[in-house]
Amino acid sequence: MNYGKVPKIELHCHLDGSLRPETVLELIESSKDTTEKYLQGLGENREARLQAVTTLLVAPYDCDSLDTYLKRFELPIYLMQTEEVLERVAFELMEDCAKEAVKYVEIRFAPQLHTEGQLDYDRIIGSVVKGVKRAEQIFEIRGNVILSYMRNSDVEGIYSVLDAGKPYLGKGVVAIDLCAGERDLFAPRFKEAMGYARKLGYHVTIHAGETGITQNIVDAIEILGAERIGHGVAMMDNPEIQKKVAERGIFIECCPTSNLQTSAVEKIKDHPILPFEREGLLITLNTDNRTVSNTSMTGEFECLEKAFDIETDFCKTVYENALEGSFADIETKAWLTQFKSQI
Ligand SMILES: [Zn+2]
Repeated sequence: MNYGKVPKIELHCHLDGSLRPETVLELIESSKDTTEKYLQGLGENREARLQAVTTLLVAPYDCDSLDTYLKRFELPIYLMQTEEVLERVAFELMEDCAKEAVKYVEIRFAPQLHTEGQLDYDRIIGSVVKGVKRAEQIFEIRGNVILSYMRNSDVEGIYSVLDAGKPYLGKGVVAIDLCAGERDLFAPRFKEAMGYARKLGYHVTIHAGETGITQNIVDAIEILGAERIGHGVAMMDNPEIQKKVAERGIFIECCPTSNLQTSAVEKIKDHPILPFEREGLLITLNTDNRTVSNTSMTGEFECLEKAFDIETDFCKTVYENALEGSFADIETKAWLTQFKSQI
């Protein structure tokens, strides 16, 4: 199957992990300030420089931990501190998605990481939404933004993000997410904040069970009201929890290549996406980070095909689940329905 041409939907894609290396190089070279430190040792000719930048952005296939993987975000975040850059990278991500027949994407990013250039949350969120909307006018794709919050930072800080995103709800922003390393049982301390988010009208998706803590999946659903779970790999050995999650109609945002890099699974063949599907879980397929994971939606399908011999029915299921589990409005969902027959 030519996965590059098959209509696809992506629900879990981080903006800062999906910058084009070409754009990053251009931004470094055009900036006269402290980006000096990133320019050192990049080499003489453009090709070598691009290669060096790519190395800074792409995580190896065998990262020793989630934290090593997360280091790849340092340079992109350093650069994403102006309205122009935020708008541009959001637009380019939409374009990259459209070029591989992704018809709808939910782009997530954490506004709190983009205040170094003195931008306030309104301008940060507004710039990303603007880039998404501009791309919608040009390419055959629709998009929405999910606001992420770094759960290892102070709980109180999430309220100003939620308030800043409120005017954009239904106008480009659809949900709140908790992300970053997963070391403890984080859900109880975000209970009130997530209740507040839901009251404002945010949908909720939570990174949980990415690298080992199964209880976080249950807590994200029961304590935080998550409608979708990012990753959920940790429940692969726990049929009881799988059953519970399936019964509640929670969607799972699977990201196989990313899980391989963070050692959540040892090899793609060990990834639970197909067993999850057999157990009745509503699985979706996603890149997590296009650049950091050096992948695309096409790449994720191809990687599954190599490991599992997936069939057309699988692509249909993944599309239908993603359509159903997306936070898009009724109109967008109706528009996306037309592409089902092309799979
Ligand atoms: Zn993620």
